[in-house]
Amino acid sequence: MKGMMMDYPLTIPSVIDYAAKFHGEAEIVSRTVEGPIHRYGYANSHHRIRQLCKALLAQGVKPGDRVATLAWNGYRHFELYYAIASIGAVCHTLNPRLFPEQLIYIINHAEDKLVFFDLTFTPLIDGLADKLPTVERFVAMTDASHMPESKVDLACYEDLLGVQDADFAWPDIDENAASGLCYTSGTTGNPKGVVYSHRSTVLHAMAGNMRDTLGLCSHSVLLPVVPMFHVNAWGAPYGCAMAGAKLVLPGAGMDGASIHELIDSEEATCISGVPTIWLMLLDFLKTNNKRIDSVEQVVIGGSAAPRSMIETFQNDYDTRVLHAWGMTETSPLGTVGTFRKAEESLSDEEKIQLQLKQGRGIFGVELRIVGDDGKELPWDGKAFGELEVRGPWIASGYFKGEGGEPLDGGWFRTGDVSTIDSRGYMQITDRAKDVIKSGGEWISSIELENEAVSHEGIAEAAVIGMAHKKWDERPLLVVVPVDKSNPPSKESVLEHLTGRIAKWWMPDDVQVVDELPHTATGKISKKTLREQFADYSWPS
Ligand code: AMP
Repeated sequence: MKGMMMDYPLTIPSVIDYAAKFHGEAEIVSRTVEGPIHRYGYANSHHRIRQLCKALLAQGVKPGDRVATLAWNGYRHFELYYAIASIGAVCHTLNPRLFPEQLIYIINHAEDKLVFFDLTFTPLIDGLADKLPTVERFVAMTDASHMPESKVDLACYEDLLGVQDADFAWPDIDENAASGLCYTSGTTGNPKGVVYSHRSTVLHAMAGNMRDTLGLCSHSVLLPVVPMFHVNAWGAPYGCAMAGAKLVLPGAGMDGASIHELIDSEEATCISGVPTIWLMLLDFLKTNNKRIDSVEQVVIGGSAAPRSMIETFQNDYDTRVLHAWGMTETSPLGTVGTFRKAEESLSDEEKIQLQLKQGRGIFGVELRIVGDDGKELPWDGKAFGELEVRGPWIASGYFKGEGGEPLDGGWFRTGDVSTIDSRGYMQITDRAKDVIKSGGEWISSIELENEAVSHEGIAEAAVIGMAHKKWDERPLLVVVPVDKSNPPSKESVLEHLTGRIAKWWMPDDVQVVDELPHTATGKISKKTLREQFADYSWPS
């Protein structure tokens, strides 16, 4: 017997329709590249999105075409997210932190038809334009009075939009049609394209808004510092519209002072970002004796949240930290660390131990860990193996079939090594390729790094496995000191680690550097670090 409910497609235009009707006055506030703060409501945005749809069609964009964006978090980028998908085309977000050669590869691989860019990236576009044969037009996301000098024949966003009215009805869209495209950072091999669908995007946003996930609602003010150019700012532009939450977009101002100013003036209740961004914010707050009293919730993901960061946010700034895990291929929300009722009565130390983990599974993402023999491992918090996931917003393959078969019997192989405990909390111990194998046993570089940064003299830390005659590999700890003129001694670091980690995990050496290499998505690049230490030899 078949169910008798409507076959109603889950599509992106329905999200902005809803926001405009029921939360038309709820604001999207943007720090613009041109300077001033821009603000309008979802109803006005909805109007401009329909104008933009017509402008895209006038440029010859057809369903399935890829339209690229090279832009910060801002309202025009928000409009592009919705308009491109709502005419059945695919919004391809480009990461401006990639090397030009990588951008050229990605744009050509995606066969982008138009590229929309923020003024900041005009020099980048100038350098790339003649290497991009599929791109028919480059559109500067600004108005006529701010059009940049360029050797490329540029179109102007506001001019394209201004000649259109908003009399536009969404075309019928299959909920499984592609809506977005984002390439993985590609630490090995070429970047691979992850293709989101309308359905996956809507379901992901709904799950993200659940009370025990990010819990956004019409009372929330979300400031995503995590960029819209990588994994859709963790779904913020969709989740906020669906919840009627105020959305605050920081533009190019990613430094501590700019972020603090926006938190303060817009009374952000929830902020989301990677640890490197929060390090900058916390440093600014401390140095300038500032507060973030409106903030209730800090979402930390993308890399492991160190204990000191969780404690500072919670104890000194009276916020609640949600440690989350995900990846480009998981849209990205996979696990989030919100306490269940049963965990509220735990001691402070037990709670911190749980928050150091990457969170519990959320409805819609199934988790399992498998050993080298391909067998599932127990959820005892000790056994670790490769994390595999499946669900309606998890990638089933890559654009144009690149990168081989990523699935293992219907499960996506994440390449992360983790444990899952009896409560269902998952903890990443390493990327599979970063695990340190010492004497046949595995050492978790992430756990060592977390303990190292709790040393008061260490700002950032990375552990890599270096070849060792007796043990195959041993951990080398590389640290960035808080005070470069007074770095901590090796002895003080090792003493600090004593008792916090198993004896045989103790790094064999500590090296001090001015800075660690980062990838385009803000993660420490272990690959580059290993190259930098290629000639290193252990102290005799
Ligand atoms: P990306 O696809 O660039 O977003 O990177 C995804 C990868 O980032 C994951 O596979 C993890 O290795 C890492 N990652 C994401 N969130 C966390 C986290 N909370 N803790 C540790 N690693 C994380």
